[in-house]
Amino acid sequence: MNIVLFGPPGAGKGTQAVKLAEKFNYIHLSTGDIFRKNIKENTALGKKASAYMAKGELVPDELTIKMLEDAANENPDANGIIFDGFPRTIAQAKALDSFLKDQKGQKVDKMLSLEVEDEELIKRLLERGITSGRPDDADEGIIRNRINEYNKKTAPLKNYYEDQGKCVEIVGVGGIDEIFNRLASEFA
Ligand code: AMP
Repeated sequence: MNIVLFGPPGAGKGTQAVKLAEKFNYIHLSTGDIFRKNIKENTALGKKASAYMAKGELVPDELTIKMLEDAANENPDANGIIFDGFPRTIAQAKALDSFLKDQKGQKVDKMLSLEVEDEELIKRLLERGITSGRPDDADEGIIRNRINEYNKKTAPLKNYYEDQGKCVEIVGVGGIDEIFNRLASEFA
């Protein structure tokens, strides 16, 4: 199965994706993590992405899609893939559909949408910023910009998957294990 783990910044996608990938032996692909690795290693892609990330804006689709496809091709024999933080625009969702169909004869099977209120997200991200070392977690203005980008460009993707009957809403508040169990029950 290919699962899109969906939700705003701070919803818990990364935490839960790591646990789910381990339990079900899936590959975890986080575009945010791959961008951060490229920035750390000072690659050409990292240099291009860092200016957008520092402002809390989305990195342009063409850079993001190419990078995601390369990462997915590195793991051709996975049980399945959990996409974390991708797709974030309609263009990315369409590119993912074409990629999975044309190169793997597969599709997105489910989109699990973690539901958390905006004010709770800001609280969580500011708390995370104390230890994450992520500059985009450390400033409330940048956090609000990330949430605005989500509401403007990414939230509409819910309709895209709802129209295909693939969207499942998951309550994203509560204990980590509680939320994990809600998500894991969708992997059956
Ligand atoms: P994340 O780790 O998912 O919170 O992503 C951190 C930042 O990386 C975002 O604020 C964007 O600047 C960038 N980013 C991650 N994934 C994407 C994506 N699918 N499309 C565009 N930008 C992305």
